[in-house]
Amino acid sequence: MNDPVLVINCGSSSIKYALVPATADQPRLTGLVERLGSGDALLKGVDSHGDAFTIGLGDVGHVQALRAILERLEGRRPGAVGHRIVHGGERFTRATLIDDDVVAAIEQTSALAPLHNPANLQGIAATRSLFPALPQVAVFDTAFHQSLPPRAYRYALPESLYRDHGIRRYGFHGTSHAFVSARADALSGLSGGWLTAHLGNGCSTAAVWEGKSLDTSMGLTPLEGLVMGTRSGDVDPGLHAHLARQLGWSLERIDEVLNRESGLLGLSGLTNDMRELEAAADRENAGAMLAIEVFCYRIAKSLAALSCALPRLDGIVFTGGIGENSPRVREQVIALLPHFGLDLEPEANLATVRGREARIDVQTPNRPVLWVIPTDEEGRIADETRQLLGETPR
Ligand code: AMP
Repeated sequence: MNDPVLVINCGSSSIKYALVPATADQPRLTGLVERLGSGDALLKGVDSHGDAFTIGLGDVGHVQALRAILERLEGRRPGAVGHRIVHGGERFTRATLIDDDVVAAIEQTSALAPLHNPANLQGIAATRSLFPALPQVAVFDTAFHQSLPPRAYRYALPESLYRDHGIRRYGFHGTSHAFVSARADALSGLSGGWLTAHLGNGCSTAAVWEGKSLDTSMGLTPLEGLVMGTRSGDVDPGLHAHLARQLGWSLERIDEVLNRESGLLGLSGLTNDMRELEAAADRENAGAMLAIEVFCYRIAKSLAALSCALPRLDGIVFTGGIGENSPRVREQVIALLPHFGLDLEPEANLATVRGREARIDVQTPNRPVLWVIPTDEEGRIADETRQLLGETPR
């Protein structure tokens, strides 16, 4: 299939899209519709000349928004659609061709991701109604972590909670961890043991051995693990009961605070944006300095913990908006892991270029390697879609 794959990431009030061509020499068209359902939706994107555009769509739903996206594809027709689906539960261990049965199974998993899966399903319904003849593929954020062994995915809770209610660790950002660990293998010429750190607005780590995820920092939900933009990451499991009893907070309030008012934003009292925090830390703002310190410490602690999953450590990979673009965060994290024998090359760390892969260690033989690898979740979803349809990925 020489046709491009249309990659769709559908949220409740947004649709991100990318038209990924079959070969890398053609331009990729990307954009998003935001504020869906507000009466004032906007389509923003970049055309094949690299020029940005913004179009007011007014009061539209998912189907009309997708129609507007199609009109911006410059006459290029997708040969398949790849959907990013957040939660595939235990059923989906790889990309899957969407039919009614798969839709029903994703629906059943919605209890595990009530904010995401129903929105992803709206995207599937809209694209199926617009392109009834096109193959549609679901690519799950959880699938890459289905190789976790029980010791990593089970919580120390009564067995019935796992058996009857699916309460276990699933992990997320699987597409990104899969992509960057495969790139680290390719760049290093081995099938290695990698610790991958996806550091964006959402943050997670993973331990990957010979292409399989053996442990990861996110759990039942994407709230577990690292400090994130507005998410707390790990807290004492007793915190919820404490807040309910002592402050009289409702479950909804607790959920809201831990998901939207915590993390870098909560710690700093300023912002969830790492660029702004770094600028504030340069002005010696105490909240910003503390937020960055806690953020980096928790990443280092998580990487050290996950190293227990690996028979051998070949290196660490940084990715995501912060992992790819913040030399300060990378340096602070590595400084906290002296026992790993890492040897950061400060100039290489400072000289990384946005969007480019870079090796940032001193390149001493028999030491773990440090990679900065821009993630490409859309490219990976397109590749998995092509692979499933029996074609060679790009
Ligand atoms: P993502 O969710 O992957 O788009 O990542 C978003 C995060 O990356 C935000 O916290 C941004 O502040 C951060 N980020 C992007 N560029 C930079 C940069 N040059 N330096 C530090 N953080 C950055």
